[in-house]
Amino acid sequence: MALVKRILVTGGAGFLGSHLCERLVEMGHDVICLDNFFTSQKSNVAHLLDKPNFELIRHDITLPIWLEVDEIYNLACPAAPGHYQYNPIKTMKTSLMGAINVLGMAKRCRAKVLQASTSEVYGDPEVHPQPETYRGAVNPIGPRACYDEGKRAAETLFMDYHRMNKVNIRIVRIFNTYGPRMHPYDGRVVSNFIRQALCGEDITVYGDGSQTRSFCYRDDMVEGIIRMMENPEDFTGPVNLGNPEEFTILELAKLVIELTGSKSRIVFRPLPADDPVRRRPDITLAKQKLGWEPKTPLREGLMRTIEWFRSIDLSHYRPPTP
Ligand code: NAD
Ligand code: UDP
Repeated sequence: MALVKRILVTGGAGFLGSHLCERLVEMGHDVICLDNFFTSQKSNVAHLLDKPNFELIRHDITLPIWLEVDEIYNLACPAAPGHYQYNPIKTMKTSLMGAINVLGMAKRCRAKVLQASTSEVYGDPEVHPQPETYRGAVNPIGPRACYDEGKRAAETLFMDYHRMNKVNIRIVRIFNTYGPRMHPYDGRVVSNFIRQALCGEDITVYGDGSQTRSFCYRDDMVEGIIRMMENPEDFTGPVNLGNPEEFTILELAKLVIELTGSKSRIVFRPLPADDPVRRRPDITLAKQKLGWEPKTPLREGLMRTIEWFRSIDLSHYRPPTP
């Protein structure tokens, strides 16, 4: 086996973080999962608690923490619009203070540190599909700004620690990702539609449903994130990770109804402010540098996600608390 590394995953109990922890534990690394459970629950990592190479710390990343590690994956941040808008000031603090704390740790430990950035840095894009060179169109004072601008500022901090202090950094820009262990009440489109379809509720399409997104299955995403961290070249990114297959939200609603066999009706609701009209990653760079591209078609990923939603007890999940 390759060298065993001590790896910190902030936000490690979340949807993506818990799968990342699982993969890293399977690979034999010593994994520290740090989370304040703002948008997640311990059950996401309960199956890892008895592994000798897994450790769980309840901590808020806006506060400093002293650990000795070789690698850091910085995922701590609410990701769904309903979650990050719940306490927008805290969201901004999490991105900024979180970045400063993990970068400080990486600098002290000479650790490699990866930032989970987002397609939201492109805002409501005028360029389609979005390459990494596109600088984005973000409304700095809108309701999504706490997340978008927080993540943009975190990228800036990462690049400046790299240039000034030679910290070994990686930045991935994650596009919409879905799969088992999404929070069923996070308000994101995939979790909403599946939950609504399975409960026989109306499927709420915002606007006329012609806006597009590109949905990546979580296993493909976690593979891309690990490849970026392990990429031996001096390639800091940012690199886009996402599935370039683009769907309208109405197409997604119809597909979810078909795959669940639901009798739910589609209803139309007002489009939230600053909702991006189109989004699709240009993944040329990820293909070139990491040899990565997603493998799971939407239909297959949705089937697995629907199966998981059928298996859970919805009363176990609660809305986030501050
Ligand atoms: P998630 O909400 O399931 O996970 C985030 C985790 O961070 C949760 O466990 C939450 O409790 C934790 N957290 C939040 N604030 C914290 C704090 N102050 N201190 C410690 N822990 C804190 O979301 P996710 O979808 O797994 O997203 C993980 C990362 O990937 C986030 O940084 C997000 O911005 C990024 N991302 C995700 C997507 C996506 O589609 N899933 C897209 C773009 C970017
Ligand atoms: N959306 C929708 N119905 C819902 C939830 C979301 O039509 O019940 C739309 C939302 O307006 C957006 C798209 O689906 O256009 C994706 O929303 P999500 O919150 O999942 O992520 P975003 O990409 O906007 O951050």
